[in-house]
Amino acid sequence: MTQHEAAVRVKELTEILTRLAHEYYDLDAPTVEDHEYDMLMQELKTLEAEFPALLEPDSPTQRVQGTVSGRFEKVTHAVQMASLQDVFSFEAVASFVQRVSESADEPFFTVEPKIDGLSVSLEYENGILVRGSTRGDGFVGENVTANLKTIRSIPLKLTDAPAQLEVRGEVYMSRASFERLSAQQEAAGEELFKNPRNAAAGSLRQKDSAVTASRRLDIFVFNLQRVEGETFAAHSETIDRMKALGFPTIPYTRCPADADAICRAIDAIGAQRGTLPYDIDGVVIKVDSLAERGQLGATAKYPKWAVAYKFPPEEKTTTLRSIEIQVGRTGVLTPVAVFDEIQLAGTSVSRAVLHNQQFITEKDIRVGDRIRVRKAGDIIPEVLCSESHAEGSVPFVIPARCPVCGSVTEKDGDEAAVRCFNPACPAQIFRSIVHFASKGAMNIDGLGPAIVQQLLDSGLIHSPADLYRLSKAQLLTLEGFKEKSAENLLAAIEKSKSQPLDRVIAALGIRNIGASAAVLLCDHFPSVEAIRAATAEELAAIDGFGEIMAQSVFDAFAAPDFSALIDALRANGVRMEYEKKAVADTRFAGITFVLTGTLPTLKRDEAKALIEAHGGKVSGSVSKKTGVVVAGEDAGSKLTKAQELGIEIIDEAELLRRIGELEVRSEE
Ligand code: NAD
Repeated sequence: MTQHEAAVRVKELTEILTRLAHEYYDLDAPTVEDHEYDMLMQELKTLEAEFPALLEPDSPTQRVQGTVSGRFEKVTHAVQMASLQDVFSFEAVASFVQRVSESADEPFFTVEPKIDGLSVSLEYENGILVRGSTRGDGFVGENVTANLKTIRSIPLKLTDAPAQLEVRGEVYMSRASFERLSAQQEAAGEELFKNPRNAAAGSLRQKDSAVTASRRLDIFVFNLQRVEGETFAAHSETIDRMKALGFPTIPYTRCPADADAICRAIDAIGAQRGTLPYDIDGVVIKVDSLAERGQLGATAKYPKWAVAYKFPPEEKTTTLRSIEIQVGRTGVLTPVAVFDEIQLAGTSVSRAVLHNQQFITEKDIRVGDRIRVRKAGDIIPEVLCSESHAEGSVPFVIPARCPVCGSVTEKDGDEAAVRCFNPACPAQIFRSIVHFASKGAMNIDGLGPAIVQQLLDSGLIHSPADLYRLSKAQLLTLEGFKEKSAENLLAAIEKSKSQPLDRVIAALGIRNIGASAAVLLCDHFPSVEAIRAATAEELAAIDGFGEIMAQSVFDAFAAPDFSALIDALRANGVRMEYEKKAVADTRFAGITFVLTGTLPTLKRDEAKALIEAHGGKVSGSVSKKTGVVVAGEDAGSKLTKAQELGIEIIDEAELLRRIGELEVRSEE
């Protein structure tokens, strides 16, 4: 690489890392996995080491990345809250141990889990908690005292405490609390946090302490920042003292300067990873002696006496037992790998989507293979490759007939997907009813996949319209139903009758018509009769509608089965008129988007319509004014330019997630 090429890449990496840090620290909404961020940071470090002239003092490698929002009063930290140097291999841990051993005489180390939360400082005066703050940029943080006081494990008053004391700890949210919060947010239709770390950060930086209190945060104290009137020789002693004072302290193992022993201690923590009730993202190895720490010193960003060993995304090999074919609501056949259960990133995994025939053929994945599966943090598991074939195995081909109804399947145009085109296919009916009842659609509480299957199996329903004819006596004939559960389900079905028309349209699952397109449609044609009477041209004239969307609506309403379903729903009391929403959805107001490359499911004009329906603008070229670039496969110069300008780049899934459409579409 030439110096010029390196300079371009350094600039690009700096911009990308700055944007990612902003999303992560300030917005509590990261758009990439931590591992990806770490790898970009490593790339920048390597380039700066190779071309020292390119090293800027304010490079992300040189300073703590967090910032301080205007939401809270600022706190200047008496002792800097530094970051940690990351390492990614046992060799790097060994060279750290070696480096320390060269300047210290028989040093000892502590090995501690690295809790995945956010760093805070707690200051006590005469044993009373007087101030608590976030790390911010390491020098100045945010005053979040009132919120920290709601965390039950933080002592508000210490007995037998030194006059002045400042401790540093990691605030986190347990997995159980995270799941509870996600369920509540989902029920309330709110946006979910991506993982417990972001949930903890978002919960601590609330204006209303009652909200923080309800989030059940916790803390591990891992450092004594400052103390008056007491002296210590080692970090481990300070941890013991803080524990005696009543703090929940970080567990540690003390090891001599023996890289093997330290790596065994790291492995021991790694082995617990899946079973701990909270997330850890690595292991911190620290020099124990405080005097030795002083000699080793620090850079502006991190101390030289510690490193953070980051866990890699977990990968494991297992045996592929079968490839199941799932038939979706629109008839798409999706192959799913079913393999011997493995533990990955804290969860047990036994299935992963294999996407389509092309994916299977390219990787030559066959039943019986030893396959490599990977999962990082909250990423869904994926099959990376086949390591070996079993004897006598044959290439896998998606069957030519639908595994559920036996109809002949066909490739749908130039899409990679293979489809079953039989509208009476039981799998499609099952999935359409599940979709009909789902949260983003008719929101029928309690009508999940298992009950839908039970209702279909018993012959009580054949279509969504039949739901509205169910009686209590009928439900009571089904296994597991009691008076109360039958009444609750009937009440939820009854309530869904008054869902607005756009929900009904979205619930009917017309191809290419998600929740926001349904709103656009109903805004123009505020009743089912008006939609039914519209021509394809009139539909295409809707601002924000493309021709494909218009044709999809027209075709759906022209189909006799669909029209009959609508009539049956109306006859059963479902509302078919629309009241215009007073407040338009303007979440993208003021943001200019640029679309580039081929998006996986949306056509260009559909993506444009969606963005515009949410108040955004779509432009054909990238400039400084561009807010977000939505990039798909084979994105070209627009993507490069966006990267150069440091413009936010997202994929289709992220666009849909921001609009709140992903739930509806992922059922397809
Ligand atoms: P860091 O999280 O890698 O390490 C430092 C932090 O570890 C400390 O501030 C402390 O809060 C915490 N910690 C937990 N347990 C500890 C223990 N036992 N001892 C000492 N410290 C402990 O560094 P950072 O600068 O805070 O953040 C960088 C990391 O954040 C990256 O490595 C990346 O994983 C993540 N990040 C991700 C994105 C993204 O877009 N996904 C963006 C920015 C940062």
